[in-house]
Amino acid sequence: MKAATFQGVHEVKVLEVPKPSIHSPDEALLKVTLGAICGSDLHAYHGRIPMVAGELLGHEFVGVIQEVGPAVKRFKPGDRVVVSFYTACGHCALCRKGWFNECLNMATFGFGELLGGLGGGQAEYVVVPLADHSMELIPEGMSDEQAIFVGDILSTGMFAAERAEIHPGDVVAVIGAGPVGLMATMCAQLFGPARVLVVDMVESRLEIAQELGGTPINASLAHPVESIAGYTGGIGADSSIEAVGLTASVDTAIQCVRGGGTISVVGVPSEFTADFPYYHMWEKSLTFRSGRCNVQKYMRPLLDLIAAGRLKPDMIISHRMKLDQAEEAYRMFAAREATKIVLTP
Ligand SMILES: [Zn+2]
Ligand SMILES: [Zn+2]
Repeated sequence: MKAATFQGVHEVKVLEVPKPSIHSPDEALLKVTLGAICGSDLHAYHGRIPMVAGELLGHEFVGVIQEVGPAVKRFKPGDRVVVSFYTACGHCALCRKGWFNECLNMATFGFGELLGGLGGGQAEYVVVPLADHSMELIPEGMSDEQAIFVGDILSTGMFAAERAEIHPGDVVAVIGAGPVGLMATMCAQLFGPARVLVVDMVESRLEIAQELGGTPINASLAHPVESIAGYTGGIGADSSIEAVGLTASVDTAIQCVRGGGTISVVGVPSEFTADFPYYHMWEKSLTFRSGRCNVQKYMRPLLDLIAAGRLKPDMIISHRMKLDQAEEAYRMFAAREATKIVLTP
């Protein structure tokens, strides 16, 4: 089968690789019908997540089930499914507490041996282990483009918005209008804020944020913390969502909220450690939350929200390309020439 492979820093190649097959009773074999390139794929592309040459890429995908192992109970061949970007077992102590993102047996698609050795979703086929706890059925009538982001960035946007504790009438600041920031902007609206301020430096992304009801702040033209203060009578936003992963954007997320406010960080950190302003946090009674999305918890409700027409995540897709064009697609996405790229095998 064809698959996008990591070959080295800034080097992606579509190659013919062995088609995967089921080896364990809890697995499902999927024919991928659509894959996407995610911001976290760029961590591998830029060499920040070390991968071995030849390992498969891609963790955002939907497909049709070809075959299931005898232990898979929720799915059968022919089912259209969206897959979480990581697998969870459903049985361990943390899954049983509802923290699937902290599953003791988790593994992530598309990052090679380092993150669990699963296959990649930017390919023609992929095996999904722990299938019953790692996939959801796509409702009838819903397109692949509508469903695909439920497995990663839309869930992450919802996780970010929920943990920002937005109340009706609040002002929320979203730091970063990449795909995750745009999803967070979309999801924040479900909680009834008076205003969602969206900070970025890329004008085309800010335009989409505005279409989603956000108020754009171009950080290359205005100081974001001062702008946010200007919109809030000088006190700051009620909560902030950080969707970049740089220490500078986390700092902005902390500095832009009012006393008693909440900061919700979902950007994949680009540093292991950094200075933390804990006196400021204490003095202003701030709540700081961060984490990788608890995807399994959000997949079903998000599919229902999309089916009801209340969320339109596919509106951020800027480029539709073929899997064969993955090399060029990665280059474009890394250069911020595309907001979101989907790949058809
Ligand atoms: Zn991702
Ligand atoms: Zn588990």
